[in-house]
Amino acid sequence: MYGCCNLRRFLKLLCLDAFVICLLAVLFTAVRTVCADKSEEKPVFLPAIMYHSVFTDTPEEYAVTPVQLENDLKWLYDNDYNSVTAQQLCDYVYNGGTLPENPVLITLDDGYYNNLSVLLPLLEKYDMHAIVSVVGIYTDVNAPADPHVPKYSYLTWEDINVLLSSGRIEIGNHTYNMHSLYKGRKGCMKKDSETESDYADALRSDISLLQDKIMENTGMLPFVFTYPFGAFSRESLPVIYDSGFLITLTCREAPNYITREPVCLYGIGRYNRSGLYSTEYFMNMVTDN
Ligand SMILES: [Zn+2]
Repeated sequence: MYGCCNLRRFLKLLCLDAFVICLLAVLFTAVRTVCADKSEEKPVFLPAIMYHSVFTDTPEEYAVTPVQLENDLKWLYDNDYNSVTAQQLCDYVYNGGTLPENPVLITLDDGYYNNLSVLLPLLEKYDMHAIVSVVGIYTDVNAPADPHVPKYSYLTWEDINVLLSSGRIEIGNHTYNMHSLYKGRKGCMKKDSETESDYADALRSDISLLQDKIMENTGMLPFVFTYPFGAFSRESLPVIYDSGFLITLTCREAPNYITREPVCLYGIGRYNRSGLYSTEYFMNMVTDN
């Protein structure tokens, strides 16, 4: 009788121990999984494409035909690529957001009117998004003087508002008047002859002029800055960061890997979509991880 009770008690304790051990194992595995998810999250491969004009009869290095553009978007669509917005990238990095499978970033520089007349209907057709980076003086001065010629006109402020209200296009800052190679500096790079503080003043005032103009004319403030010609100096970086930009676009032809670290959004590499390539060749090159 005494031995039997002891055996029962022993078995009971054994069951209890086994239960506790199982519980601890489950908890340990759960904690390990959560930690692994945080620290071992794979960087997201993000190819980025840089277009300029999308209306030309003869393809050029910096201009594609509307047919080439449509072939590109169709290729991305057929191959299950999802264009992401600048806002989605920021939400991913800063707010724990998600990105779709096979993300791709579509960008267009300089603010051509054909980004409205040709690109926008195609974005609607293939359910995609893009960032258009405008040059202040082109929109503010050139566009109103000679508007709405698909081959060479620039977007007016009214056009930009149409793009924004479509919900398919975000606007980036491509400098107000530093998109030039002929004023003793390449784009917005520092001149050898100027002091660091003179340069910072020049860059800051140019960029903020365009930020102010965009705010005044559209009510939105860009958080994407696109370096003219992809060129920048070490001294450009603090000015760009202090001006509140969260994403910078370059012309470095290399893929991007997006993490939860804000630094990954600075210096996004992009492949120039030269009209001299076929869609197949270009897209295979850009999406090769
Ligand atoms: Zn440009």
